[in-house]
Amino acid sequence: MTQYEAVIGLEIHIQLNTKSKIFCSCKADSWGDPPNSNICPVCTGQPGVLPVPNQTVIEKGATLAAAMHAEVRRESFFDRKNYFYPDLPKGYQITQYDLAIGQGGYLELPLEDGTTRRIGIEKMHIEEDAGKTIHKPGRRLVDFNRCGVPLVEMVTQPDLRSADEAATFIRTLRSLVRWIGVSDADMEKGKMRFDANVSIREAGATVLNPKTEIKNMNSIEHGREAIEVEIERQIREVEAGGTIESWTLDWDEESKTLSKMRSKETEADYRYFKEPDLLAVKLSEDQVTEIIDNLPELPSVRKERFIEKHGIPPKESGTLTSDRALSDYFEELLAAYSGEPRTAANWVINDLLGLLNDLGLAVEELYLTPARLAAIMQLVDEGTVNTSTGRELVRKTQEEKKEPAAIVEREGLAQLTDTSAIEDLCKEVIAGSPDQVEQYRSGKKGVIGWLIGQVMGKSGGKADPQAVRQILTRLLE
Ligand SMILES: [Zn+2]
Repeated sequence: MTQYEAVIGLEIHIQLNTKSKIFCSCKADSWGDPPNSNICPVCTGQPGVLPVPNQTVIEKGATLAAAMHAEVRRESFFDRKNYFYPDLPKGYQITQYDLAIGQGGYLELPLEDGTTRRIGIEKMHIEEDAGKTIHKPGRRLVDFNRCGVPLVEMVTQPDLRSADEAATFIRTLRSLVRWIGVSDADMEKGKMRFDANVSIREAGATVLNPKTEIKNMNSIEHGREAIEVEIERQIREVEAGGTIESWTLDWDEESKTLSKMRSKETEADYRYFKEPDLLAVKLSEDQVTEIIDNLPELPSVRKERFIEKHGIPPKESGTLTSDRALSDYFEELLAAYSGEPRTAANWVINDLLGLLNDLGLAVEELYLTPARLAAIMQLVDEGTVNTSTGRELVRKTQEEKKEPAAIVEREGLAQLTDTSAIEDLCKEVIAGSPDQVEQYRSGKKGVIGWLIGQVMGKSGGKADPQAVRQILTRLLE
């Protein structure tokens, strides 16, 4: 049977988080605002108006290009992409064509086995968004609020090989754009959305076969599903002797099916030409140097540092660098804690993330600062409280907004380390559990777990489980 591999390229639209739109001073973020409330003659394309470029858009676009290891062009141009659609009042979109802000670049894609693979960037440019058409029975409504909202469009090389890789790429890119502060990348609000170009070929081949394009996905999980369904469809089609046609497809989340929207346009249909109303976008050497110098340590670099300097495994390091605030928290925790970095990583991943999730909190909102979490970890390391009490303390400290040591004091949570007291509890349990004791003595050693549980229960969870095991074993044998 023929083995196939998927060849996937992504086109991603990222909304830059500027206050105003790209060519006028209208408010850029219209989320929750009434339709057509943030519009003006410029963004609705009235005759006689002139676009004025927003310098912050240029800077954020260049920042993203630099973070993607692309060459930031010192001179780039805006172009007109001509097409007619009701939500595009000018009849053209101002975008960048052949001389865009970024040239080349790549993103290191984290792979399952802990290594990474470079995914090349074919194009990266700045452009304005179009409006939104809303279909109602018997009529079409147009909301121009989104017209002129600044976007970066990024097109990858066809370097992705599975739906999972595509999903990981989007996740990694989303975390990067948030990290460097150029976009909220909130997919539910359409601030990051993507299309996928999908084709298949025999595994190991180098040809590129005709591809289909799945449009407008705004959820990573739905996008992953859609790509998977399309790969399977193409394999079925080819296996049955058919050919793949270059369709544009629309994914229906409800029915989990793809439907054909139209045959794909080619670029020639858009009759691009240089935007005559705008000058070239120029960035001086100093400006480019400043942009590069001001980039924070990137998540991929920090991840490597966590692996190499602190011995934290790749998967955990990936989690700890998935969000900048979380990552900074972890760095502060390491500074406050004298134990092993891996132990600190486990507390953050197993306990802190769960807590944030359950309480719906952001890292910045925590009462449980890195210093307080370090104090709890220290109490566990010193044996003042056992691990399960320590985990409860994480929650209690946050919920009660009290110092961990004060909670230990008030609730008498300090671990019972007095062996004679533990021994008394063990004797009590042994006397009260003749059946289990007999099972143990007849060779079913596993029952000791149950006996330990009984002693722990009697101690209110405060006994040192290691000590309980030792004492029980000694008494039983
Ligand atoms: Zn406007």
